[in-house]
Amino acid sequence: MTLKLNIDTRSWRNHIKELHEEFPGLVPVAKGNGYGFGLDVLAREAARLKDDCLAVGTAHEVAKVRDAGWSRDVIVLNPWRPFDETATVLIDDPQIITVVSRLEDLDELRKKHPRARVVAELMTSMRRHGITPEEIESVDAGSLGFEGWTMHLPLKGQLAEAKQLASAAIAHHRGAVWVSHLDIGDYRRLRTQLGVQTRMRMGTRLWLGAPQALSTTATVLDVHRITRGTRYGYHQASAPRDGWLVVVSGGTSHGIALSAPPSARSLRQRGVSLAQGVLDAVGFSRSPFSIGGRKRPFAEPPHMHASMLFVGGSEPGVKVGDEIPVTARQTTTTCDEITWN
Ligand SMILES: *Cc1c(COP(=O)(O)O)cnc(C)c1O
Repeated sequence: MTLKLNIDTRSWRNHIKELHEEFPGLVPVAKGNGYGFGLDVLAREAARLKDDCLAVGTAHEVAKVRDAGWSRDVIVLNPWRPFDETATVLIDDPQIITVVSRLEDLDELRKKHPRARVVAELMTSMRRHGITPEEIESVDAGSLGFEGWTMHLPLKGQLAEAKQLASAAIAHHRGAVWVSHLDIGDYRRLRTQLGVQTRMRMGTRLWLGAPQALSTTATVLDVHRITRGTRYGYHQASAPRDGWLVVVSGGTSHGIALSAPPSARSLRQRGVSLAQGVLDAVGFSRSPFSIGGRKRPFAEPPHMHASMLFVGGSEPGVKVGDEIPVTARQTTTTCDEITWN
């Protein structure tokens, strides 16, 4: 009775192993909903691979990966701020690496937590967090455990930017360079040209880069015949025509969302059939659930644990207990169960 993530274990693990071989110094990223697998699953995979360091997004996620059995270094990607109490509690832990992205925060750590392990973040064209190139010369790690420099790069490989920033930084204080989002050629070039240890943080490409190894399915929980005018659902909408209500597992609590119905204009542009247009006109919007090879509309917005779909025609095409494909976006979907095939 669940939303299920099905993993082709061998294919998924082969992909992850290949990336480890291609990117020496790889640091797996386990954050948020664990890219749809859960932080615990990712922490255990990283441990299986004998990774030396795992990246999490926030200090709150440290306990989750440790509870799953992770016992080596953890780098917390969100840069430390003095008001982040959870991060501050962890800061003196010898297996925690803290990212610092402002000179004032570095000053404070130097004074109050002189033995903390830190990585200094450099501002990139992302403009999210970081020390500017002009500030590099003021970086003084004092007695802190200086673990290097980090950059978060935009999605398209930015070798020139990475090289320029990193060169300036390591000329000031030599250390490892932590990056993200470089392709393999650029990563190798950076590594050889800088002559320091490089660490590639990787989440999406590592965990979700072999889509053929992953599929999400929902279970059909009920199938009800309805005729035109039948009222149903929380909103007591009336069926626009004869068909079936198909109740499936998976709702808002799993991250199954109602997307806005497309406009009539965009439907015409995409050449979508009038039938779909009519469904949208009566308030149905497309769901991520497929029956008989077609995405079916929601009969009403998804419920907490289940969703009601509308299937027109004389046959529903499914029966209770069937599993149907779901096109889920893994970073916003959390399944109840994982099946390792
Ligand atoms: C999320 C994140 C990553 C990983 O990004 P992906 O696109 O999932 O590989 C790397 N570095 C930082 C700082 C991040 O916040």
